[in-house]
Amino acid sequence: MSIKYKRILLKLSGEALNGGDKSQIINSDILVQFANEIKKVVDLGCQVAIVIGGGNIFRGASANSGIDRTQGDYMGMLATVINGMAIQSVLENHGMQTRLLSAIKMEQIAEPFIRRRAIRHLEKNRVVIFGAGTGNPFFSTDSGGALRANEIEADVLLKGTNVDGVYSADPRKDPNAVKYDEITFTEAILKGLKVMDRTAFTLCQENDLPIIVFDMKGEGNLLKVVEGEKVGTLVKE
Ligand code: UDP
Repeated sequence: MSIKYKRILLKLSGEALNGGDKSQIINSDILVQFANEIKKVVDLGCQVAIVIGGGNIFRGASANSGIDRTQGDYMGMLATVINGMAIQSVLENHGMQTRLLSAIKMEQIAEPFIRRRAIRHLEKNRVVIFGAGTGNPFFSTDSGGALRANEIEADVLLKGTNVDGVYSADPRKDPNAVKYDEITFTEAILKGLKVMDRTAFTLCQENDLPIIVFDMKGEGNLLKVVEGEKVGTLVKE
């Protein structure tokens, strides 16, 4: 099979790492499963960059704890680095070469984010993990994913979630919800569909960067996506 998307940016939410089970931060079985899926596309020759969220550890914006918004956001960014370190370790244990690049300097554990360096790593088939989101409060890791995907000129932004695409309504609540195989940015906005947060979505739309929302847990799904099979929902111009 040929590769349709050679350079990908995979955005995973923090909660993907504990499977929504709040009693734990990271479920190692899930990490191993992700590593197996990522290895399939690395072995195929795909250049893989990953942006990971931090919601399993700390989500600044929704914290109602007396912590200032900006302080909480920085805490959330640090959480993404912890997740990035976890993924890095498991990917390396599965035989992949990796680099963790952080938007906030922490040189003992991660390289600083330097765009050209990130691209060079990708060209050498190292999996690049971007930590600390955009490095700025008031953003999300969806925005970090959209930003980095554009910066590295990724062919597509893949949003790996636990639903198999974008639906007309929440499929868990509405039995009549229909899944879209393909939808344009404009249609998604007009229909009020939430693919990513608005900042992230606009960044992709303005730069013609397609987004594919798919179920990361499905075995072989990531591979199918990069080979161009119809998996999940494709959002494009
Ligand atoms: N965050 C931020 N700037 C960024 C990325 C993340 O301030 O560029 C903070 C923000 O508080 C966010 C938290 O980090 O709530 C964790 O990221 P996110 O909520 O996007 O994680 P996910 O929902 O994907 O697990």
